[in-house]
Amino acid sequence: MAATASLAGAPLATASPPGSMAPAQAWRRLVEGNERFVAGRQRHPHEGMAWRETLVEDQWPFACVLGCADSRVPPELIFDRGLGDIFTVRTAGEVLDESIIGSIEYAVEHLGVPLVVVLGHESCGAVTAAVELVRSGNGGSGSISTLLRGIEATVRGTPGDDDPDAFLAACVVNQARRVVTQLRERSALIREAVDAGRAGLVPAVYDLDEYRVTRH
Ligand SMILES: [Zn+2]
Repeated sequence: MAATASLAGAPLATASPPGSMAPAQAWRRLVEGNERFVAGRQRHPHEGMAWRETLVEDQWPFACVLGCADSRVPPELIFDRGLGDIFTVRTAGEVLDESIIGSIEYAVEHLGVPLVVVLGHESCGAVTAAVELVRSGNGGSGSISTLLRGIEATVRGTPGDDDPDAFLAACVVNQARRVVTQLRERSALIREAVDAGRAGLVPAVYDLDEYRVTRH
């Protein structure tokens, strides 16, 4: 019961600008929510009618999560957060384009979020398809091929493994890490915020079996 009590005591409200919150504190807040989700003890905060009214005029999210579009990995659910808490951007395989980068820049520059998380996940279909592209040359149709090319370099840069599952898991981690690197390289605004300590930028992976988000 001690663990439950300490979780229950964790602060949930963020009805003020997160400007004074350190990146590590924002990460801790996500971890605490994920621990509740892992334990099946979600509090589903910030969904009530009174809370919604506080958000009509403004928003103060304390984190930006760039996650995969996969239906099994909605950030608000796996971090047990509610309305106004997380500025969420989702694209299959966390692949970047200019609009995605611009959305994250908006969160950092205009909303002052102290933390950006690039969130991959176990059994990612987009990464699996990119592995297939590298192995067989089958790159999918339409704009899916463009998407998969955004993951191809990750697959080619990941050391081979006889175990396909282990290789896929390594590719998932490396994709989140590479997107973090790309964000730094392609956005001076994000890079400067991170280097100045105003924002953290971390790769992480969600485990579908154990429901846990691990920082990488
Ligand atoms: Zn995915």
